[in-house]
Amino acid sequence: MKVLAAVKRVVDYNVNVRVKADQSGVDIGNVKMSMNPFDEIAVEAAVRLKEQGAAAEVVAVSCGTAQSQETLRTAMAIGADRGVLVQTDAALQPLEVAKLLRAVVEQEAPALVILGKQAIDDDACQTGQMLAALLGWPQATNASAIAIGDGTARVTREVDGGLEVVELTLPAIVTADLRLNEPRYVTLPNIMKAKKKPLDVQTPDALGVDPVSRLQTLRVEEPAARAPGIKVADVAALVDKLKNEAKVI
Ligand code: AMP
Repeated sequence: MKVLAAVKRVVDYNVNVRVKADQSGVDIGNVKMSMNPFDEIAVEAAVRLKEQGAAAEVVAVSCGTAQSQETLRTAMAIGADRGVLVQTDAALQPLEVAKLLRAVVEQEAPALVILGKQAIDDDACQTGQMLAALLGWPQATNASAIAIGDGTARVTREVDGGLEVVELTLPAIVTADLRLNEPRYVTLPNIMKAKKKPLDVQTPDALGVDPVSRLQTLRVEEPAARAPGIKVADVAALVDKLKNEAKVI
């Protein structure tokens, strides 16, 4: 069984992004970029399936600029066997990514595609769902466990008030939640090995997808600055402020 893991290059989660002066977006020039954290979990899950003998090959796929090759190399250092980059400088939105991934799925014919549940830059939480719809495949989102059976995947999902277990007929789409696993530490020897693994570069054009944006960003703003905290003299003053200033009691 082949497993595809979708990985996106995003601003590192430790970076405090700044809004550009013209409010057209956030400034990502000279900031640290990394693999989307949920995608690290997706790759780790795919690699563990291979280590358990449930998968024969793990292919990492990324759509984006040439620099996304670094993200694919990280996926290969975690344990993916090879990488596919759909290279474009276009600003991709989830529907376009889903269409590009569908084209790669049609080429690669995996039994399972694992994506992150959300990309931390756009917080869209849409790509996996859109990919499942485009392919007409079953999907399980927000997975906290995956077990492969005979032509099936049993997926545990974290839902309000407990856990839901669903069984999907393969081929299927799964999106990874935070508690699915803890990605392994990438070691230097594995980084070196990853440099020699195959990385195939494709274009949206060759895949028959026009990565045209359907959504236009009108304006991006910094969140409102928080007013500084104050100290109150006693409980009576606190209650008074909560009642008459904050009006929360
Ligand atoms: P989103 O719908 O943008 O929140 O992204 C959900 C998931 O889709 C991510 O965690 C990735 O696994 C996948 N994904 C989104 N954008 C890309 C991309 N440009 N290349 C590869 N995978 C992506």
